[in-house]
Parts: sequence; C-alpha cells; structure tokens
Amino acid sequence: MAEAATLPARDVRQAMIRGFRSRCPRCGRGRLFRAFLKVVDHCSVCGEALHHQRADDAPAYFVILIVGHIVVPLALAVEVVFQPPYLVHLVLWLPLTVGLALGLLQPIKGAIVGCQWALYMHGFDPNAASEPHPPQTRSPEANR
Ligand SMILES: [Zn+2]
Repeated sequence: MAEAATLPARDVRQAMIRGFRSRCPRCGRGRLFRAFLKVVDHCSVCGEALHHQRADDAPAYFVILIVGHIVVPLALAVEVVFQPPYLVHLVLWLPLTVGLALGLLQPIKGAIVGCQWALYMHGFDPNAASEPHPPQTRSPEANR
C-alpha cells in the first residue's frame, strides 16, 4: 500500500455517480458502456483505460440486495393488508422485480467500476505490476 499513498486522491463519490450515469469516472463525459454490461476499453473523450475493471458478480449481488429490500416488504405489506389471490401477487411483483433488476444492473455496475477506478483497484493502479495474464499458481502436475 506504500505505492498507493503516492497517488493523488480521487473523489470516490463523484466517480461512482459518474459511473451510475454510465459515464467515464474520470471525465464524466465519455460513455462507459459499449453494450448493456460491456465496459468500453478506453474512454472516447479522455482516453482513460477502463478495461481494468473487475466488477465480476458484484453488480448482480447489489441488485439482488436492493431489489429484494424493495419488493419483499411491499409484497408482505400487500399480503397483510389486502390478502389478494396469488395471481395478483404474480402480476404485481414479477414485472416490478424484473424491471428493477434490469434497470439497476447497468447503473450499479457503472458505480462499481467508478469506485474501482477512484480507489486504484486492480489494473487501475499504475504502480501495480502489469501482467497480461494472471500468474500461474499451480502446475498441472499439482493436481495429481
Ligand atoms: Zn473519460
């Protein structure tokens, strides 16, 4: 962490907001995504390398967490107050759940990429050793 201390501090909140808006965390103007969840390799405006991002499963995890905290209390409240048939629950909560999940996935991923960029995580750290491939930790013979 000694190398990270020499790097200039980046505004994590601003980078996450820019990412949430699907914009480059550095300049806030370039597009962050080239497809629904595919991050561009470089910002088209400032040239910042964004292919270092390693959001992996985190966006899905946070989307499930957020959507679950919205839909489950609503479904429980509707059940307790109105006790509707199950078909009404299906018609209410399935579209809401799918819509919220699809609507939040890209902004949440953008915010995570912005956070990783602002904190110099993964390849965003210029002091990190650049390796084109992850180091081989086990030889094929180790599996025998
Ligand atoms: Zn940019």
